[in-house]
Amino acid sequence: TFVVLEGGEGAGKSTQVQQLSVWLREEGFEVVTTREPGATKLGMRLRALLLDKEQTGMSPRAEALLYASDRADHVHQVILPALRRGAIVISDRYVDSTLAYQGAGRELPSEEIARVNDWATGGLVPRLTVLLDLPAEDGLSRLGGGTDRIEAESQDFHERVRRGFRELADAAPERYLVVDARESQERVTREIQRRLRPLLPD
Ligand code: C5P
Repeated sequence: TFVVLEGGEGAGKSTQVQQLSVWLREEGFEVVTTREPGATKLGMRLRALLLDKEQTGMSPRAEALLYASDRADHVHQVILPALRRGAIVISDRYVDSTLAYQGAGRELPSEEIARVNDWATGGLVPRLTVLLDLPAEDGLSRLGGGTDRIEAESQDFHERVRRGFRELADAAPERYLVVDARESQERVTREIQRRLRPLLPD
């Protein structure tokens, strides 16, 4: 079972990945938690390039292809092997992050990005994607100043990203759960558990 958490910065994705993995292990499942970009050796080097884009001044298509490359390696080296042995895989970000950031955010055509990523992933689609939805403003203020993740992008960019995620969720309600990330952490976890439980193997 492949589960993905999506959302902007500061929405609490990594906390929820952690909470869900504790819960699922207690339930007796093998759980693999992972994230993008940077889950493999190649991925770590791509992540360093991607998060240093002020230095490289890379163009939007080049950026989109590096994310796709990171993802291809992630699927091949981490996600598929784990799914094949029956583990539950929980990933912090996947294809929809690219559709939101490089598509809606950088305004690249989403059908083209979808096609490149379909090829990169061999068509692997999550069983459930959880969108931790948060107004761009709240996300940025939650992160605060002084971290290396501080975002150089405009508020406008982050608002396009948020809309991008919501449109993806609206277009595929059968594989999406949208949660209001302003709720308490415990409440968000409970909402995800309720939706995920019936999808788990026996
Ligand atoms: O998930 P995390 O917060 O570590 O993401 C690292 C950074 O990469 C974020 O600042 C996010 O804006 C950016 N990102 C991106 N495009 C993606 C995935 C992440 O611009 N497809």
